[in-house]
Amino acid sequence: MNRQEFEALCVSPACTLREALQRLDATARGVLLVQGDDGVLQRTVTDGDLRRARLQQTDDETPVANLPAQTPITVGEAAGAGAVLAVMDAHQIDHVPVLNASGCAVDAVFRRELSQRIWLSSPHLGEEEIAFVDEAFKTNWIAPLGPNVDGFERELAAHVGIGHAAALSSGTAALHLGLVLLGVQAGDTVFCSSLTFVASCNPILYCAATPVFIDAEPETWNMSAAALERAFEAARRDGRLPRCVILVNLYGQSADMDALLPICERYGVPVLEDAAESLGGRYKGRSSGTFGRIGVYSFNGNKIITTSGGGMLVADDADLVARARKLSTQARDPAPHYQHSELGFNYRMSNVLAGIGRGQLRVLDQRVAQRRRVFERYRQALIDLPDIHWMPEPEGFQSTRWLTCLTLSGPAARERCKVVIQYLERHSIEARPVWKPMHLQPLYAGAIYFSHAPGEDVSSMLFHHGLCLPSGSNTSEDQQDRVITHLRRALLQSESLRAIA
Ligand SMILES: *Cc1c(COP(=O)(O)O)cnc(C)c1O
Repeated sequence: MNRQEFEALCVSPACTLREALQRLDATARGVLLVQGDDGVLQRTVTDGDLRRARLQQTDDETPVANLPAQTPITVGEAAGAGAVLAVMDAHQIDHVPVLNASGCAVDAVFRRELSQRIWLSSPHLGEEEIAFVDEAFKTNWIAPLGPNVDGFERELAAHVGIGHAAALSSGTAALHLGLVLLGVQAGDTVFCSSLTFVASCNPILYCAATPVFIDAEPETWNMSAAALERAFEAARRDGRLPRCVILVNLYGQSADMDALLPICERYGVPVLEDAAESLGGRYKGRSSGTFGRIGVYSFNGNKIITTSGGGMLVADDADLVARARKLSTQARDPAPHYQHSELGFNYRMSNVLAGIGRGQLRVLDQRVAQRRRVFERYRQALIDLPDIHWMPEPEGFQSTRWLTCLTLSGPAARERCKVVIQYLERHSIEARPVWKPMHLQPLYAGAIYFSHAPGEDVSSMLFHHGLCLPSGSNTSEDQQDRVITHLRRALLQSESLRAIA
């Protein structure tokens, strides 16, 4: 419902029953909101109210204020879709006005829109997954090995253009193994992008190593070369270089490899590339995830393609990947009697899930195009609004737009982001803030952090001013329109906060 449609629902207490009936017909929402001059909601008027008035032979010119008294059922602005639905169910109604702290109706929610939640990013299966899964069942390959695992590894490596791949149980497992393969040990330090999901750096703690967090830069939202350079200088001064650098490609977009990789090379420190969010993306023509000594992809349910849960470790170095396969299956020595010389893990991908992955890989390019289309549609539809800045995509970068992200600028931007998320949630639309940086997480309190520039903390700014919108490749145009309409209204409404700021 846009602003005009909402305003058409609002009538004054002097509105007559005849006018109310006409308005109900014209708006076709089944409810009108009666507001006094002060904007406070006095009551609602429904078709039922008018029918009862008619049965009691109330004159058509009677003002709605004279209808039998009623306490309207309402919700507050903080109510989420679940709470709104509970109120509707409890009172057997299909619509509910939303009141602000002053008792003024600022919005209305209708049952119809709550029945179809719009997710940030949900699984989107193709046509072929089921055939691979069927084959696994028919041939009894229901284990963390089998033809689908081998096929998925081969096909993914070919797709991104890298030598070798090992299919694992999750992206997190792949990152953990990556650190182990790069020799990270207790007491080591590891550099890691601060603006990311916690799975990027938790494996550092699994290794009993210490993370040092590196800020983002405004042009890509990924690791800042300036901050990385300062972190390395400080590490050299302390005589304690990191064992590796975890470089994250956020929201489908690669980090600026030409700026970052030479710095790591100069210090002789390998890169573990966390491409969990950027499978299908490219940087200067080359696949995201193929730039580090080791790259990692994720197939969690919310990623661009999914195996319900899974990950992949990739590298050009055949020995590294062979070691990954061994370590991921309990590190058995080649002996018949279960002998182990080193610490292994149970991190291999199931052959059933790899079947889903093979089917998903066949639609990856399609999914990238679909996500990019969702982004472009939002951008075009909201192009007239001030204060919106879409996540940039510099020349030579090809993001998958895994999530459509934006920041707000201007007074009260931070407060407005919260209000927008709350507004969308009330209408059963999932939107989220940008990742909360790791150096702000309680879990990582006290970790060393290098900001983009002294006094310029870019990742914190992006967190406080950033939003992610529903971006799934299966978000229909109708759903996108719902997001656009509500987002536009939420942004316009939150402009009042601007004036207060
Ligand atoms: C999803 C994600 C991971 C973890 O992948 P899982 O498969 O969920 O374990 C790691 N890093 C980033 C940046 C992610 O978004």
